Amino acid sequence: ETKSNFIRFRYTSRGIQTVIYLDNAATTKPKQAVIDAINKCLIETWGNPSSLHTLGRDAKKVVDENRKIVADFIGAKPEEIIFTSGACEANSLAICGYLNGRHELLVTTSIEHKSIINIANAYPAKSIVIQVNKDGLGDLYQLERTLKSLSFFSKPLVSIQYANNEIGTIQDMQSISEIVHHYRGVLHTDATQIIPDREIDIRGIDMLSFSGQKLGAPKGIGVLYVRDGIELSPIIYGSQEQSRRGGTENVPYIAGLGAAINELEYNKGSIRDYFIRKVLKEIDDTYLVGNAYRLKNNASICFRGISGELLLLMLNERGIYASSGSACNHEPSHVLKAIGLSDDDIASTVRFTFGDQTKDDVDFVVDNIVEIVGILRKFNKAGV
Ligand code: PMP
Repeated sequence: ETKSNFIRFRYTSRGIQTVIYLDNAATTKPKQAVIDAINKCLIETWGNPSSLHTLGRDAKKVVDENRKIVADFIGAKPEEIIFTSGACEANSLAICGYLNGRHELLVTTSIEHKSIINIANAYPAKSIVIQVNKDGLGDLYQLERTLKSLSFFSKPLVSIQYANNEIGTIQDMQSISEIVHHYRGVLHTDATQIIPDREIDIRGIDMLSFSGQKLGAPKGIGVLYVRDGIELSPIIYGSQEQSRRGGTENVPYIAGLGAAINELEYNKGSIRDYFIRKVLKEIDDTYLVGNAYRLKNNASICFRGISGELLLLMLNERGIYASSGSACNHEPSHVLKAIGLSDDDIASTVRFTFGDQTKDDVDFVVDNIVEIVGILRKFNKAGV
């Protein structure tokens, strides 16, 4: 039974449809302090940081100050921070930069971001892919067996994401680090999704990537942390960033990233928990995909028997924005496949990633989901 008296749209007092943005894993809204820092930089410190005159030196000062903010934030030294265009580039630099010229293997998992999976696919002879269980946790026995089987002189690169962007699974990074280093490996982690979620300890991690757009900075700025002593070849040649990443520094966005870090408030889980409880209670044949221990903003839900994409489109009409799996990947999700979901369930899964929503927002969202799922299931039964 679907109720017909729901208010389907919410409007502000000025008659504008309200938007409930539940796609924070894809990107976050730039914060005002970030926009201000970027604007200030575009107006006042627009010089090239490599120029020796005052305008150049002022721009270099902005880069240096914000490099220190980033370094302090993750507990690294400023010279261990490389600014990139985002996490895709940081991942590519970590992996291709390490493997280039070395006869070493890449060991990674089946649920990495495409920026890593596609490197493993491009170099199948140099890559080993570790499987994950139904919760998305890496098979650490397979990791250990794999590393143990390598020559005593090898220094493989192990790249395992800290947290998954689709299902929110958080890996046991401490155990992974112990295994990797026991077998002389180098550990890189894609920390893009964990960075806005909680404080992490980078001791035990040799390289780490993240992206500004997940924490209130714009798209197009990211970071690769490289522990002192690890040598990387560049993938973009030039003299900047100690010749490890060419290209004039994106000074405004670097300033924006620093401002975002200064303003960062970690994800809170309570609204997400309220949403999950309510959805699972009010809609039959629905389950939470992945592990209960997950990113605090993530709810990946399978609504059996409906098209997740239709649900998304119908929610969109009502001002509610969610996502099917990852935003940058429109094929059936490799992550949901790797954790063993059937093709039908993959097509029925929707990812909600929360920001600063209220209980009231969640009530509105769930009412709408209940109604739409009801409609879609009725159509399915009718064979339409
Ligand atoms: N890794 C993960 C886990 C991500 O979620 C994303 C963003 N979708 C990226 C890498 C890539 O970040 P960017 O698009 O900013 O390069």
